[in-house]
Amino acid sequence: LSQLFRPLDMLGWVYRTIRQGVLDMGAMFDLVDTPAEVTDAPGAAPLVVRSGAVRFENVRFGYDPERPILKGIDLDIPAGATVAVVGPSGAGKSTLARLLFRFYDVSGGRILIDGQDIAQVQQASLRAAIGIVPQDTVLFNETIGYNIAYGREGATAEAIGEAAKGAAIADFIESMPDGYETRVGERGLKLSGGEKQRVAIARTLLKDPPILILDEATSALDSRTEAEIQATIERIERGRTSIVIAHRLSTVVNADRIVVLDAGRIAEQGSHAELLRRDGLYAEMWNRQAAEREDALAAAE
Ligand code: ADP
Ligand code: MG
Repeated sequence: LSQLFRPLDMLGWVYRTIRQGVLDMGAMFDLVDTPAEVTDAPGAAPLVVRSGAVRFENVRFGYDPERPILKGIDLDIPAGATVAVVGPSGAGKSTLARLLFRFYDVSGGRILIDGQDIAQVQQASLRAAIGIVPQDTVLFNETIGYNIAYGREGATAEAIGEAAKGAAIADFIESMPDGYETRVGERGLKLSGGEKQRVAIARTLLKDPPILILDEATSALDSRTEAEIQATIERIERGRTSIVIAHRLSTVVNADRIVVLDAGRIAEQGSHAELLRRDGLYAEMWNRQAAEREDALAAAE
């Protein structure tokens, strides 16, 4: 019977959490003991990140076994490289990111970091090595300073301030009477989607992980703030393995490689120039967005 009630309890908890909008996915999976299938393997050793190379080997996954989402992904990301993942909405881009963070276990194939299967290492060590700016950041019902420092215990006020500055949110925080002590959440400050994204970026700057996942990390920002943060983002990508999921293609032109995901498969990959020459899905997406940019410019005149 308890097996029946546990999922119900969890649903209730998830519902309350989403309603409050004050917890992030990482915390959710930390607090509600992670779904039964995602556990440390017996005798799991900590992940040892030497250079941070990431490799997907024939990775298959579906949230529901009846409905495959990722249908055999092979992807080699050399240490320190920036790989952009683009493609239509629903293609499986966020799912790819969630699997690397091991929110879920793959149903086929494996994911390796520096040769170690992530299903065989201690989860805590895996999550310590990866900084993720999710598509929808949900914050803790805590101070804004706490929210930035989460994931980096014992961060100094100075370091928190530096991270906030890098994410272009320091002025906003400092303009409030309680500054970094301002509470966020239900009875506190309500942050816009863009402000929450900047808090998540600040958190990642502070965490300083060897592997970085940005899942449409600037999608809720206006183009001016996005441009302001773009330099910071390029700086944090430098020297670490980065997976950048992007809707706006203009932000990924400089990636070492662009992977186009379509309906759970890699449709094409290459540099921006190579993909344009190929005249496939990427070129089509690029031309459509270019036309939209021109329309927007014309409308502004
Ligand atoms: P993308 O990020 O490329 O837009 P996602 O990886 O979020 O795509 O989703 C891929 C597919 O998986 C979609 O069809 C989506 O509806 C489904 N999906 C995403 N998250 C879940 C979930 N938690 N449970 C069930 N299905 C999901
Ligand atoms: Mg997504």
